[in-house]
Amino acid sequence: MTVLVPRLVRARALMVLFAAPMTLVPAQVLAAQQSEGVSEVALRASAPAEWLTTGRDYAETHYSPLDQIDADNVEQLGLAWSWIIPKSGARIEATPVVSDGVMYATGPKSFVLALDAGTGEKKWQWDPGIPDEREGGPSICCGDVNRGVALYGDKVFVGLLDGRLVALARDTGLVVWTVQTTPRGADYSVTGAPRIVKGNVIIGNGGAEYGVRGYVTAYDAETGDQVWRSYTVPGNPADGFENEAMRAAAETWTGEWWIVGGGGTVWDGMAYDPEADLLYVGTGNGSPWNRDTRSPGGGDNLYLSSILALNPDSGEPVWHYQTTPGDDWDYTATQPLMLLDLTIAGRERKVIVQAPKNGFFYVVDRLTGELISASAFADDLTWAVGVDVDTGRPIETPEARYGRTGQGVYLSPGPGGAHNWPPMSWNPDTGLVYLPAQNSSSYYAKADEFEYRQGVWNTGTARGSRESRPERPALTGPRTVLLAVDPATNTEAWRVVSDGAHGGTMSTGGNLVFRGSGDRLIAHDAGTGAQLWSATVGQGTGTPMTYELDGVQYVSIAAGRRVGRVYTFALDGLPVR
Ligand code: CA
Repeated sequence: MTVLVPRLVRARALMVLFAAPMTLVPAQVLAAQQSEGVSEVALRASAPAEWLTTGRDYAETHYSPLDQIDADNVEQLGLAWSWIIPKSGARIEATPVVSDGVMYATGPKSFVLALDAGTGEKKWQWDPGIPDEREGGPSICCGDVNRGVALYGDKVFVGLLDGRLVALARDTGLVVWTVQTTPRGADYSVTGAPRIVKGNVIIGNGGAEYGVRGYVTAYDAETGDQVWRSYTVPGNPADGFENEAMRAAAETWTGEWWIVGGGGTVWDGMAYDPEADLLYVGTGNGSPWNRDTRSPGGGDNLYLSSILALNPDSGEPVWHYQTTPGDDWDYTATQPLMLLDLTIAGRERKVIVQAPKNGFFYVVDRLTGELISASAFADDLTWAVGVDVDTGRPIETPEARYGRTGQGVYLSPGPGGAHNWPPMSWNPDTGLVYLPAQNSSSYYAKADEFEYRQGVWNTGTARGSRESRPERPALTGPRTVLLAVDPATNTEAWRVVSDGAHGGTMSTGGNLVFRGSGDRLIAHDAGTGAQLWSATVGQGTGTPMTYELDGVQYVSIAAGRRVGRVYTFALDGLPVR
């Protein structure tokens, strides 16, 4: 650990510069709430100096108004402190959060850490002791990852790889309560950050490659009691439907989809609009991938690959927008969701935006679910030629339905998607969304035979022999690229080609975009994309965030696969060693 005492730091009247999209809460109300820890009021206000929730605010903008570090002085950024995560081997995907001078983050095997945000000194650490898959640990579809914690009151909440949701005491890291949010022994895992809405902890799960039925659950933050559970796809009609939405959804499925589970897991993106009182979640791919196996008579298979607006008190769906009807390609819509208030064609619109795996950037009315616009952001996109704004449906290419044609085909994007977990960010001054995008292709073919087997991937697809496949088309776009998207016009403003795998992005009031890329933390001019600064951190980065403590603005990122570290930067810091 290296600790730096910063030199002269300018005092800032931050409240004047505060430009959050949500309701402003007076400072005295915030102060009154502080004794109770992180409150609903604090979450709504998203205090400028702090980073209280994974996306910083309920709108999940990953934007901070802090501007002590700006485009003019960012080159003076140096290491303030770093902390080695005493567990390794996993991809780091967490966004740290900071409240009352303490940073909380997660690492490999759902490890939780609490550090003094000013010095990096350890307050506590908690290791849930999850064994490796080879040693009887949980089956995990897509790697040992965790995208972070939630704070509420005097507790820290974390979802674990083995499907548990745990509340820890903020002061000590001691376990307050634990619930198993998934059926024991089933092929679910939890990698997403919990969210807090109206005193409840909201948590989803993953595992659709194995064959599971997606759902999201709300637990009382104080007691861990289940408040509601909302499924994303229908179960066996013979068992009765949980709600009207499931009854309607079942009409878009055929065959005996419930045996494999159907999929539609909620493993990442969520957002909450306190004014509309709607909770938004993104749902995952079909289980198995191949629709002709999953639902032999076709159909849209609601609510796979969809944005769902839920009643936060009951979990019941209010509206849905399906990005990929009848998903055949692992095109999840679990990617990060963001709520924006935009002027579009002269009209004030409250929108939700998403860049799901399928390569289109969607702008949807967040009150009604009406599609406003959808534009291709991926350079390589061959499963569809566009989206019909009137119907909200993609215009698929004839070769895309490989199960129906019986012809294996290379399609873009591949199952990794044109955008995956790395959060995009927003900047209200530039009006741009910063999207870590990628180009890929993959071979899709229907498996001749399919039999569901627990504990292994059940995709219903085949790789075929190399000789049996057509020639793989070359990609036209870069493998990874940072895109600045104007969501009001749904057009690309600029791009920066990358040379490494993406971490997430964060934007600030200092006209900056920070992002993880390869083994670096990079700062760009938010208006132009010009690279202004970078530092080498560990290979494989999470998502940067920023906070202010005792008059100093810090920027932090967790990174590193072989050795994970939390790196925290400030003006006039030291070079990374
Ligand atoms: Ca998947």
